[in-house]
Amino acid sequence: MDKREFLKTTGAFVAASMLPHIDANAEAAAHRTNWSGNLTYSTDNLQTPASVDELQKIVKSSSHLRALGSRHSFNSIADSRYEQVSVAHLNDTTLDEAAHTVTVGGGVTYAQLAPWLTQRGYALHNLASLPGVTVIGACSTATHGSGLHNGNLATPVAAIEFVSADGSLVQLSRDKDGDTFPGAVVSLGALGVVTRLTLDVQPAYQVAQSVYENLNFDELHNNIDGIFGAGYSVSLFTDWQHHRATQVWIKKRLANANESIQWPQLFYNATLAKQKMHPITGHPAESCTDQQGIPGPWYDRLPHFRIGQTPSSGHELQTEYLVPYEHAFDAILAVEKLHDQITPHLFVTELRTIAADNLWMSTAYQRQSLAIHFTWKPEWTAVRAILPRIEAALATFDPRPHWGKLFTVPSMQLEPRYAKLNDFKALVNRYDPQGKFRNDFLSMNLYAG
Ligand SMILES: Cc1cc2nc3c(=O)[nH]c(=O)nc-3n(C[C@H](O)[C@H](O)[C@H](O)COP(=O)(O)OP(=O)(O)OC[C@H]3O[C@@H](n4cnc5c(N)ncnc54)[C@H](O)[C@@H]3O)c2cc1C
Repeated sequence: MDKREFLKTTGAFVAASMLPHIDANAEAAAHRTNWSGNLTYSTDNLQTPASVDELQKIVKSSSHLRALGSRHSFNSIADSRYEQVSVAHLNDTTLDEAAHTVTVGGGVTYAQLAPWLTQRGYALHNLASLPGVTVIGACSTATHGSGLHNGNLATPVAAIEFVSADGSLVQLSRDKDGDTFPGAVVSLGALGVVTRLTLDVQPAYQVAQSVYENLNFDELHNNIDGIFGAGYSVSLFTDWQHHRATQVWIKKRLANANESIQWPQLFYNATLAKQKMHPITGHPAESCTDQQGIPGPWYDRLPHFRIGQTPSSGHELQTEYLVPYEHAFDAILAVEKLHDQITPHLFVTELRTIAADNLWMSTAYQRQSLAIHFTWKPEWTAVRAILPRIEAALATFDPRPHWGKLFTVPSMQLEPRYAKLNDFKALVNRYDPQGKFRNDFLSMNLYAG
């Protein structure tokens, strides 16, 4: 067995490809890292076309190419050994009030879109914990927020426009291309370079959030639907010690701007926080969105972190697994058994819920889900050793790892967890028959078998 085969068999191959590349040019290439700095991209060749026309020429003449968003993924999903292209300059935004949709250029981030929409009286259904990612980067990896009835951020996509491998411009919509459209939204960057996305919008709304401290897991066991259903979006945080969630963040959607919500002192015996909290115990909370029941616009409450502020810890690694919600508490208990191995390397774990959807490569495809997230300290050697143990503990629940975060699940286990994988590959083949957009991440995770 050669080294490549060994790494693949042990599942470490995916992980190995995520290691920062240490070479003589590292300093010069410092700007070519992802947001966290744990990954140096394998090429210095980054194209930034100013127009769709220019992008089409780049795609047509390139042999291998990968679209890059705002670089927030922790693994090598956006990496290329040949060439990357950023559509940051394609940032037009158009509101269609009659259709209740907004169309955004491929370079637009939620931090740009959300205030713009709000000024015009509109909102999206949900956001992730931070607003700084591109809309297309988020949709490509099935990025999600929380809420028992909230689909991930790709679920409101109504139409998509992309440049396929031969340089032509393809437009697909939910209404006209119902048979293949669900495969094109969570695309993992495999279909082409997206130039425009159309999203459903709804009237702007206000949200108020409060935080409770120390929720015993026995309460969670007995009242899981009541706890995750206590708000429009609910997040639990834990360090996996003392059989409890350290914090519960409850985000309630207001029926109107004047609605006043009463927050009881006790929530399933957890206590209402008296001051503004950061999810990571001990971190200053200035970067967080307002709590203590103060109402505010949807985009300044649904994410945990404010626009323009450093989200989370900054210097960190992230992992996340989605399991069926019906097994949520058993999955939590399975991970809890590893607590003494996990906690020393952990900043914090977040537990969220996501509604089921029909997007073929979505981590919530036809499964209402619990997402078990880990924000790790930047200790990759230790984290890399723990991930297979967590994955083994969760294996009975068929966990689907977040496409943009670190995992070591071997492809032979991953592939059966996506019932529409073969349809997705056929769709990819239609728009990219030569594998122009296929990178090592896709080869290892989808095409290894
Ligand atoms: C601090 C932090 C907090 C996070 N919080 C959450 C969270 O709350 N919930 C959650 O689910 N995830 C979260 N994530 C993960 C993050 O949302 C995903 O990794 C997301 O994919 C990052 O988007 P991006 O714009 O940075 O894209 P990148 O990471 O640059 O790329 C991601 C994928 O999108 C593709 N892509 C980008 N642009 C295009 C394009 N124009 N055309 C075609 N494909 C394209 C890339 O090829 C790649 O496959 C978080 C990440 C960080 C760093």
